Amino acid sequence: MRRFTGDTLLVATHNAGKLEEIADLLRDHGITVVGAAEKNLPEPEETGTEFVENARIKAHAAAEATNLPALADDSGIEIDALGGAPGVYTADWAETPNGRDFEMAMRRAHEELEAAGAAHPRAARFCCTFVLAWPDGHDEVFEGRMEGQVVWPMRGSQGHGYDPIFQPYGYAQTFGEMDRWEKNRISHRADAFRKLRAVFGDG
Ligand code: IMP
Repeated sequence: MRRFTGDTLLVATHNAGKLEEIADLLRDHGITVVGAAEKNLPEPEETGTEFVENARIKAHAAAEATNLPALADDSGIEIDALGGAPGVYTADWAETPNGRDFEMAMRRAHEELEAAGAAHPRAARFCCTFVLAWPDGHDEVFEGRMEGQVVWPMRGSQGHGYDPIFQPYGYAQTFGEMDRWEKNRISHRADAFRKLRAVFGDG
């Protein structure tokens, strides 16, 4: 695996929360983290059919545009009985002319499972893929996941996205009911993050 040895990392996200999380991870390494908004980077079209493809598109576009190593991520939920849907279209299922509506997206997932006569438990997983791309075209991929099942009705008002219908294996609560700290410790993003640390010389 190629190690990151520079002093500046471009994080190809316009999401302030994600940027902060990565800046926290890298603070002790003396690495300066720069966000996509700061560099006025356009958001490339995510045309991939897998998380890794979309993360690659975003990371390489940012590395080329800035001549800096760039980190991007893509995430979503895969539901087995729906052939892995919504997958890379997780956020798209929530799109409406007035912004994102995740209750609508969760209802769609449930209705499609009912229509398919899917057996219980309805296996699903949250996935998170990080890609670190260098301006010379090299990249490293780090994939995290959390296995669980889709439940209905929705439970819990914490969290975001599809959290209220996802119950991780080994837990009685959905991500929507779970304490933030607990979820962030076991989530797909935490799993990918643990793997990513190695590229900066951790663990
Ligand atoms: P993106 O990775 O920012 O493109 O977002 C993908 C979508 O996946 C988000 O809009 C969320 O709906 C969903 N998603 C990713 N991680 C989580 C999670 O931990 N809980 C709930 N939804 C999630």
